[in-house]
Amino acid sequence: MYCKYSDHMKEECGVFGIFGSEEASVLTTLGLHSLQHRGQEGAGIVSFDGNNFHSIRKQGLVGDNFNNTEILSQLPGKNAIGHVRYSTTGNSKPENLQPFFANLALGGFSCAHNGNLTNTNSLRKKLVENGSIFQTTTDTEIILQLVALSKKKTLTDKLIDALQQIQGAYSLVILTNKKLIGVRDPYGIRPLVLGDKDGSPVLASETCALDMVGAKYIRDIENGEIVIITDSGIESIKPFVKLKERPCIFEIIYFASPDSIVGGRTVYTYRKALGEQLALENKIDADVVVPIPDSGVSAAIGFSQKSNIPFELGIIRSHYVGRTFIEPSQTIRQFGVKLKHSVNRSCIENKRVILIDDSIVRGTTANKIVKMVYDAGAKEVHLGVSCPPIKHPDFYGIDTPNYNELIASHTNIEEMTKLIGATSLFFLSLEGTYKAMGCTERDSQQPQFTDHCFTGDYPIDVSEILKINSKNG
Ligand code: AMP
Repeated sequence: MYCKYSDHMKEECGVFGIFGSEEASVLTTLGLHSLQHRGQEGAGIVSFDGNNFHSIRKQGLVGDNFNNTEILSQLPGKNAIGHVRYSTTGNSKPENLQPFFANLALGGFSCAHNGNLTNTNSLRKKLVENGSIFQTTTDTEIILQLVALSKKKTLTDKLIDALQQIQGAYSLVILTNKKLIGVRDPYGIRPLVLGDKDGSPVLASETCALDMVGAKYIRDIENGEIVIITDSGIESIKPFVKLKERPCIFEIIYFASPDSIVGGRTVYTYRKALGEQLALENKIDADVVVPIPDSGVSAAIGFSQKSNIPFELGIIRSHYVGRTFIEPSQTIRQFGVKLKHSVNRSCIENKRVILIDDSIVRGTTANKIVKMVYDAGAKEVHLGVSCPPIKHPDFYGIDTPNYNELIASHTNIEEMTKLIGATSLFFLSLEGTYKAMGCTERDSQQPQFTDHCFTGDYPIDVSEILKINSKNG
């Protein structure tokens, strides 16, 4: 019988893969370490030693689970892929940890996925009706099932056949007994880069993982591209209808590591430019600019430099607490915000403070911090946000919640200012956001980025998910 999966995956993840290295699993561990900001719920590595596949998947941080000297003997082989993940309610199950592995007719097939598919429910329904048995609630398992069931002859053709049936955002790393494969969806919504570690090709979500393992950056995997890495070299195929690339703008605004390079610039320089642009658009009389750490730091530096208002570390962040969104319920999340930030009174007392953060989602962080800053004796607390209001949910792999939880989807700026309790609240304009990204303007016909969280312009149809969400209230 068809089973409805209401706990549809919402996750942001990081992937890594390396081919032909004596230290494949150690380098994968290091790569995953540097991608830890993309997911802290669990991590996994699958390696292949020429005969067998080996797998370890654990809940918790990479450093807590892959920290022993026996990794090489536990995960032997010259080829490996890895994954870090987080998810929301209902999905914190060990069996959902990746990479997944299946023994297919053509041999072992392991897959790690960053992104979210948008036609999961209809595909799963069809597959279950045709006899597929699912072991997880993830959309990634659907890819495995589609590859397994494909009538095509070669593994590459089976994979293409599967990819042509799925819709949504996906950056994949796949390991078989002969190949390491990297895939980026037709819009290139989630990132994937190719590097080289002393002659061994590397795939990673971000360039910071290449830096971590001492690999040279070669290039980005293009949107709609499949790269197939074998002993004979790297082959590239583009089996999809060519679309204009539209990477997710939120990777640059929030998700990616500041030291990662996107389009030739570090993410840090984009974020600083977002802060500069915010200062150009909003002239505020104040004594100090204070970032909400860590996410607001780069934009606050840009804001301070452009406005000539001194930058101060007025909020201190504990580095022993994970990202706010990782906790699965709103109650725990609120508690998490308090655990995470404390006030540095000396920078705040009797001052007119401009707080800077990269984004407001539910408003939980902003609300708590504005109150903390007032309680510490600030005269005024202005809050500047270095992106536009997030009015629309994400279904492509960034975990922003449903409409009713997004504060900007149901309140205007005046109401939000009151709810958050700030003296004033200001957001970067959409045009300003595109300027900071290095574009003269947003191309309204074919936008340069996937920016639906601000505009509602979803490049890939999300009606299937919206329908399920509305049924589930
Ligand atoms: P909220 O407290 O719900 O308004 O969330 C806003 C805070 O969460 C900001 O400090 C952001 O840096 C951070 N944030 C924004 N988007 C995400 C995301 N997708 N996952 C985790 N944290 C996020």
